[in-house]
Amino acid sequence: MPPLHPGGPRGLAHERIAANQDRTCDVPACGLRRQGIGRYCHRHDDAANRTGHPLGKNLRPSLLVPYADRVRAFMERHQDHPGIRAGIAWCADLIESGSMGRRPRGKRMAALYLRWHLGRMKAHRIDPGEVLVRTAAMFLWREFSPRSFADDRHWQHQLARMVLRLGSTRRGDTGAMQAPRYNVSTRDLLATRLVGALGPLCIRIAREVMRDLERKPEPAPLDKPVEGSGAPFADHHDDTSATTRKGTNKNG
Ligand SMILES: [Zn+2]
Repeated sequence: MPPLHPGGPRGLAHERIAANQDRTCDVPACGLRRQGIGRYCHRHDDAANRTGHPLGKNLRPSLLVPYADRVRAFMERHQDHPGIRAGIAWCADLIESGSMGRRPRGKRMAALYLRWHLGRMKAHRIDPGEVLVRTAAMFLWREFSPRSFADDRHWQHQLARMVLRLGSTRRGDTGAMQAPRYNVSTRDLLATRLVGALGPLCIRIAREVMRDLERKPEPAPLDKPVEGSGAPFADHHDDTSATTRKGTNKNG
């Protein structure tokens, strides 16, 4: 057993915080002092909590729309696929597990927060198919443009945000979206569950849709090479050689 610290656990924590503050933020070229016992300064710690990455941004939901549209069309074409049916059923169970009691307080209750947010989705009668559409659309976005995401954790947090936003309500008078704030552990928990249960299916959907996108469309008539482009150029001025060649062919 290690010797007990003279200041007790609290003294130890103070000492760790004090020691940490002499070090600089882990983000290259930041140079600011670290906060608390974390790896980052206040600014980068805040960004990591809001977005999933110290240099990450929260991506606008409208950017997901083109990916979601393609996934939705694909799922409609394959609605009898057993994986898609099971995926939608899983999403229905997920929403059903929500319950909107009193809004939980405190940072360490990810499961309670998640249940509350899912309860909002349940109250708004969100189509479970849309949960699968948004999840697969996030996989498609990453497949199509990996550099839109700082790293895997950033992508996971954006995935959770896009799905949780389904439970957002519109403000009556302005029509603006009223987006509740989701804490970092709630997003972690939801993303882990979505990726664990729907990941293998969504990767396949994303790749199938990508294949459709990459398939070259049939060129329009005016864009095709003109007919006869491949015909040999015989020399019509030199009649004797043409005759000779014909003769040779006959002999051969
Ligand atoms: Zn920093």
